[in-house]
Amino acid sequence: MKLMVPKAWAGLPYFDKLKGLQGVPVINIHIWFDRKLTTVDHLLFSRSPLLSVYADMSTTCREYADPNRSMLELVFAPAHEWIGKSDEDIMEATMKELERLFPTEIAADGSKAAVRKYSIVKTPLSVYTASTGRQAYRPTQRSPISNFYLAGDYTFQRYLASMEGAIFSGKLVTEAIVEDVNLGKRPETLKKIAEGEKPAALAAA
Ligand SMILES: Cc1cc2nc3c(=O)[nH]c(=O)nc-3n(C[C@H](O)[C@H](O)[C@H](O)COP(=O)(O)OP(=O)(O)OC[C@H]3O[C@@H](n4cnc5c(N)ncnc54)[C@H](O)[C@@H]3O)c2cc1C
Repeated sequence: MKLMVPKAWAGLPYFDKLKGLQGVPVINIHIWFDRKLTTVDHLLFSRSPLLSVYADMSTTCREYADPNRSMLELVFAPAHEWIGKSDEDIMEATMKELERLFPTEIAADGSKAAVRKYSIVKTPLSVYTASTGRQAYRPTQRSPISNFYLAGDYTFQRYLASMEGAIFSGKLVTEAIVEDVNLGKRPETLKKIAEGEKPAALAAA
């Protein structure tokens, strides 16, 4: 959003304060193994300094279900020092960590569970850094532009940037639009959308 604010709006305090939010880099790692790992069967928030949260998708997610072979999905964070490194370096560090987390099943040299394939997804600007005082920099869903509203995890609401926060912001933005339409503050187009009419772009789809 910070990158997309039009020049004409950039000086407005509402958009200017977005500068107080900084995205953190995150790396997502997906690893397909040749056998079923038996020591994890749910989502884990991990004690590992590199792999903050992971799950065996072959057990926890219907789309990846496999009774015989595990697929681990792991969040590699904080990733500041790693985001610029090669996939091979990241994978090597991950396997060393996995050896610690799964001592009986995984060896970094591949002598236990073998990796069938892997995929590394880098997100250089992920959720904003949740440091002290950030709440003051989150924009409300209602902007000073009459037909422009914001939703998203980073917008002002009671949760941190998260799936819950993103959904809650969607609820708040809907309330703001309906409220504005009812008070007659917003343009005719929004009124029609609030009353159930599809926007032209959606109607054409
Ligand atoms: C690796 C990782 C792990 C996470 N783990 C968790 C977790 O365990 N629990 C949790 O609650 N949260 C987690 N989060 C955070 C959570 O995913 C986000 O807070 C949430 O998805 C944000 O939702 P959103 O709708 O605000 O934004 P997004 O989901 O980022 O949606 C924004 C959408 O806009 C699209 N877009 C961007 N620019 C444009 C453009 N110019 N034109 C059109 N479309 C555009 C993007 O492609 C994207 O689809 C995690 C995030 C990451 C990266």
